[in-house]
Amino acid sequence: MDSLDRLLEPHVRVRVARPGRPDPEGRCVVYWMQRSQRGRDNAALNLAIELGNALGLPVVTVFGLTADYPSAQRRHYRFLLEGLVDAEADLEQRGISFVLGLGRPDRVLLKMAGALCPAIVIGDENPVRTGAFWREQVSQELAVPLRFVDSDVVVPTVLFPREEFAARTLRPKIHRVWDDYLKPIPNPAARARFESPLAVESVRLDVEGLLDRLKVGGADALPGSRGGALEAERRLAQFLAHRLPRYAAERNNPTHYSTSELSAHLHFGHVNPLVIALAARSSAAPRESIDAFLEELIVRRELAINFVARNPRYDQLEGCPEWARKTLAAHAGDPRPYLYTAAQLEDGATHDAVWNAAQEEMTITGRMHNYMRMYWAKKILEWTPDPAAAFAIAIDLNDRYELDGRDPNGYTGVAWAVGGKHDRPWPERPIFGTIRYMNESGLRRKIDCAAYIERVRGLERGPAV
Ligand SMILES: Cc1cc2nc3c(=O)[nH]c(=O)nc-3n(C[C@H](O)[C@H](O)[C@H](O)COP(=O)(O)OP(=O)(O)OC[C@H]3O[C@@H](n4cnc5c(N)ncnc54)[C@H](O)[C@@H]3O)c2cc1C
Repeated sequence: MDSLDRLLEPHVRVRVARPGRPDPEGRCVVYWMQRSQRGRDNAALNLAIELGNALGLPVVTVFGLTADYPSAQRRHYRFLLEGLVDAEADLEQRGISFVLGLGRPDRVLLKMAGALCPAIVIGDENPVRTGAFWREQVSQELAVPLRFVDSDVVVPTVLFPREEFAARTLRPKIHRVWDDYLKPIPNPAARARFESPLAVESVRLDVEGLLDRLKVGGADALPGSRGGALEAERRLAQFLAHRLPRYAAERNNPTHYSTSELSAHLHFGHVNPLVIALAARSSAAPRESIDAFLEELIVRRELAINFVARNPRYDQLEGCPEWARKTLAAHAGDPRPYLYTAAQLEDGATHDAVWNAAQEEMTITGRMHNYMRMYWAKKILEWTPDPAAAFAIAIDLNDRYELDGRDPNGYTGVAWAVGGKHDRPWPERPIFGTIRYMNESGLRRKIDCAAYIERVRGLERGPAV
C-alpha cells in the first residue's frame, strides 16, 4: 500500500474536492474526462491509472456530452466528437474502458458512478464557469473521494493564487519555476481490466449520428478542420518543421499563417501544452522563435487562465480594471462615426472591407488570426453604442464562431481589446479614452490588407450556417 499512500499525498497539481481514502468496496477507478479530451499525455488520466494499478482495479473513463453547452455550435460538437474518437482509441490501447453518456456532464457522471461503484473518482480542472458548476455539483453529491488534476497547463494554476496584473508580473514567476514542470509526461498502461461487461452502456461514438441525435445546429466547420489528438500531432509536426523557424519574424502576418493553429486543439484538450512546449524547446528553430512561441503558449495562455480562474466577472466589462472602466465611462457619450447592430456585425456588413474579411474568415473557417482579432474587437468597441454592449457582442461572436471560442484566451482577448485588461493607459482619444487604439490606416501600414481580403475571398464556403 506504500504506493497508494504516495499517490494520495498532497500535490500541487491535484485539488481534493472530496477527501478520504478509496472505498475498499469499490470496483474500479473512474476518470471523469471534461477538459482534457485525450487518451495520452494526460496527468489526470495518469493519476487514475496509477491509483487503479495500486488498488488492483480497472479504470473507466466517463464522458458526459450535453447538447446545451453555452454558445456551442455544430462545428464545436463535430470537433469535440472527432477528438473523442481518437481518445477512445488511445484509451483502448492503454487498457481503459471508455463510456459516453448523453446529458448534463455532472448528471451523467453521478449516474454512471452509481452503477460502476468506483473506489475513487479523478477529474480534470477547467477554470470556466460552466465546468466549474458541474464539478461543484458532483463534489456535493458523489459518495466516494473525488480529486481534480490541473492537467492542461504547464505550471499549475494554484501557484498563482491572486489575479495577475499583467504579463510582466506573471512572466518572471513562470520563468522561475517552469524548468520544474517542463518534463516529459509518461503514459502508463492500466494493469487490471474488466473481466465482465461494464455495468453501464456507452453511447456509440458515431460522429454524424450523434450530431443528428443531439440536434445541434448553427455554424458547421469547413472540411479540413479536424479535431483530435492525431490531427494535433500532425499540425505540431508541420509547425515545428515549417513555421516555428519564422515565428518570431512572421507571427503577426495574417496573410499567411506562420503560427501553430493549435488553439482549438488546446481548447478541447486534444493536446497537452506541455508536449507542444517540449517539442518546440528541443527543435532546431532559432532561439528567438522558440522564446516568442513559449511566451504565447505558456505565459500568455496561463495569464488568461489566471484571469478566468481568479476573476468571476471574466466575461463582462465589470471584470476589467477600474482605470479602463472609468475612461470608457467618461467617453460613453462621444459621437460614434459609425454605429452597427449586432446583426450587421455578424453579417460582416460594415464600411470597412478588412474588418468584414476578418469576420468572414471567422464565420467560414472558425478561425481568425491573432492580429486581426485585436483589430476586430477594437472596432466593435468603436462602432457600438456603449462599451458593455461591445464587450457582450465580441464575446458572443467569438464564442459562437471561433473553433477555439469559450476559452479563457477568448475572454481575456476581448477584455484586453475592449477593457484594457493586462494593458496600460495610452494617449487619450475619443470613444476609447485611454484604452489602446487601432485604426485602419495603421493596420494597412502593418499588413497587406488587399492580400488578406483576397485570401478570405478565396476561402470555400462551408456547409450552410
Ligand atoms: C479579441 C481576441 C479574441 C481571442 N479569442 C481567442 C479564443 O477564443 N481562443 C483562443 O484560444 N485564443 C483567443 N485569442 C488569442 C489568440 O488570438 C489565439 O490564441 C491565437 O490566434 C491562436 O492561434 P495559434 O494557435 O496559431 O497561436 P500560436 O501563435 O501558435 O500560439 C500557440 C498557443 O499559444 C496560445 N496563445 C497565442 N496567442 C495568445 C494570446 N494572445 N493570449 C493567450 N494565449 C495565446 C494559444 O493557446 C495558442 O494556440 C483571442 C485574442 C483576441 C485579441
